[in-house]
Formats: sequence, C-alpha cells, structure tokens
Amino acid sequence: MNMRKLVVEDNPSFEQEVYEFGENHPKLMITAGIHGDEVAGISIAYDMIEFLNNTKLKNGSIKIMPKCNPVATRVFNRTSFYDEVDMNRIFPGNETDGPTHKAAKNVWDEACDMDIIIDLHCANQYSIPYILSIYDKFPEVLSVINHLPLENLVQSSGLRGQFFVESNYQRNQNAFIIELPSGSSKGAIKTHLANNCFDALKNLLIALDFIDGKTVDNPPTYYGEILDIKSPVSGLFKPTKSSGDVVNKGDIIGKIGNTVIKADNDSKIHTIMPDSYVYKGDLIYSYIIKKEIQALDLGGKNDKTN
Ligand SMILES: [Zn+2]
Repeated sequence: MNMRKLVVEDNPSFEQEVYEFGENHPKLMITAGIHGDEVAGISIAYDMIEFLNNTKLKNGSIKIMPKCNPVATRVFNRTSFYDEVDMNRIFPGNETDGPTHKAAKNVWDEACDMDIIIDLHCANQYSIPYILSIYDKFPEVLSVINHLPLENLVQSSGLRGQFFVESNYQRNQNAFIIELPSGSSKGAIKTHLANNCFDALKNLLIALDFIDGKTVDNPPTYYGEILDIKSPVSGLFKPTKSSGDVVNKGDIIGKIGNTVIKADNDSKIHTIMPDSYVYKGDLIYSYIIKKEIQALDLGGKNDKTN
C-alpha cells in the first residue's frame, strides 16, 4: 500500500489522503466525503483500505480517497467554511477559484487514468439505498454495476459538475454513485447498510478479478429518475407506507387531514416523510418506476448464459 497526502495551500492549508494498492489496469477508484456530512461512505472507504491492506490483489489497481473534502468532514458539513462551495457541482475543478475548486481538481487529476470510479454519498435519512448512474447515455457502466448485489439502480438526470457525471462525459470512464441513507444526526451511520455496501463492493472486486473469492450474482433492478410528490394541502402528513415499499397505482400512501394521498403509478417508494406537519408544496414522498431495459445489459448477467 502506498499513501500520499495532497496539500491544498490556504490559511489554514489542508490535506487529502490518497491510498494506492497496485499499479496496473484495470484501475478502480473509490472516493468518499466529497460532501463532508456523508459519513457512511467515508467509513466504508476506510474499511476497504483496511481490507485491502490484508488482501492480495490478483490484477489491476485500486485507489481510494476516503475524505475528498476533509475540512467539511471535520465538522460534518456538506461544504467547508472556506467558501461553502458544493464540491460535487464544480468538477473538474481548477487552481484559481479557491480551496474547494483546488481540492476538486486534485480528485479529478487523481482520477485521470481510472477505468472505474465509484463515488460514495449519502441521501436523506428517509431514503432507500441506491446506485445512481447515467445508464441511459452510458450503458457500458452496467457491465460494472451488474456485479453489485444492491437492490436499486436509479437513473441520474446527469446534472453537470458532478464528479461521476464529468468522468462519464469528459473521459468516458465507468463512473457512478452509491447513495446510502444518512443517519439521524451528524456523524451517525446506519451500520447494517454500510456493511451491505462494503460486501457489495467486495463482490464487485471478486467478479472483476481484482481479488480472489466467491461471487453472488444478484444485479440491481433498473429504475427511472426519482419523481417527487408535493403536498396538495397543508396539515399533518401521516404515511401508511415506508421507503422501499412497492405500491400499485391507487394504493393509499398516507393522509393529510381528510385528504387521501394515493399512488399515481405502479412504483417503489424511494423516500417518504415520517409523521410530520407539511405545507402545501412541500415534498411528502418520492418514487421510482421500474425500467424494462435489461437488454442494455452488456455484462454481468449475460456472462452466465450458455
Ligand atoms: Zn453527496
């Protein structure tokens, strides 16, 4: 294992850690902490560093940057106090616009020759865990994602400036995000979901022949983009469904006073607010619809046919 520290000069200066295992292609990179409050990913990245310290790589190389935005992470904030710039909107970064832009450029430069990039993030605490990728425009990424035994793959809108989006568009790398629900307070982690994600990443490393071991073949289900439902009235929202529930069109999702909220599609609940007072126009839940496009599959499942 090789460990380097990249310095971002400022007042005060700060450092980003880079851990490297092996030197050859295929090259896989894991990044975490681009948003400083999304600690589950950071924890998984450090678990992976420890695991790789005790595991022989068969092929390829792995690079891990566990805290891409370390100053933000120190106080569990999305952004750092230097400039409060959202790092995952400014890739590829630059040398001139301030410390967060420079830190983003360091991550971008480290990723220049990577084949696969997995960027770990956290969604809100009421969300399901999910993989996020631009798989409609870059279906090659499915040859990697299909080896992750995680339930949900969600279509990204491809908002520019995100690390994984720019890696797809500018470098044609197989880059995507894994989003885990955050814990209920700063620094909190849903440990069983972090462990599931770690195991899924290990399965991917085995399937792509980075390390020895036995794989499971359980690719995610493909869904479209996240669709948000806003409250039609003000009042106390009482959900009758939970995140991850599969619903049919017309099923009751919850009530706000006498107003019944029904599912407007056959779908899966992605995020749902707990019992809470809401105003007209506030988000009450969001859902995802299954996509029947497994034919796009370029790897994973097809490997085992005949
Ligand atoms: Zn994030």
